[in-house]
Amino acid sequence: MYTYYISVGSNIGNRRQYIESAYQALSIYPEVYRITASSILETEPWGYTDQDVFLNAVWHVTCEWKPHELLDILQELEREAQRKRDIHWGPRTLDLDIVYALDKTGACMNINDARLVIPHPYFWDRLFVLEPLMELDKNFTYNGESIRSRIHSLQT
Ligand code: ATP
Ligand code: CA
Ligand code: CA
Repeated sequence: MYTYYISVGSNIGNRRQYIESAYQALSIYPEVYRITASSILETEPWGYTDQDVFLNAVWHVTCEWKPHELLDILQELEREAQRKRDIHWGPRTLDLDIVYALDKTGACMNINDARLVIPHPYFWDRLFVLEPLMELDKNFTYNGESIRSRIHSLQT
């Protein structure tokens, strides 16, 4: 059993529908034991700012899939949402990133290969990830820093 935090984003078309359809699709897999979603927030674009506003959320997922197996499923869900990859950090119907993973013992997993980097290299810099993550786990810490203090320093 593994536990993941997944960052979800959309800024094209019926954004809420893309997010909710993917949530439904994920939740019916027998390998998924539990999935909890944060609220959906509207956020300004990050990185490449000349594009429409995003809807973002974080999902807490407990499942049997190992990290690369989960990535395969998430990429399939992105394809089902007609995701196209052109501009780096550009507009997208659906983006599903694994931001943080815990193994069976509850330890943070570290992966760094050509397909997958966990923890996600930017998650601790992105308010659009940290605000919904804090809603799911207000006691989350990373490298000894509390999520509350990190959000505070990013806001100022
Ligand atoms: P960012 O990862 O900075 O948020 P992005 O989401 O726009 O950027 P994509 O074009 O969606 O980037 O993904 C590019 C590649 O990133 C994917 O093909 C995937 O193999 C890889 N990748 C590496 N680490 C992760 C991760 N933790 N979650 C999802 N994809 C990842
Ligand atoms: Ca992303
Ligand atoms: Ca992505």
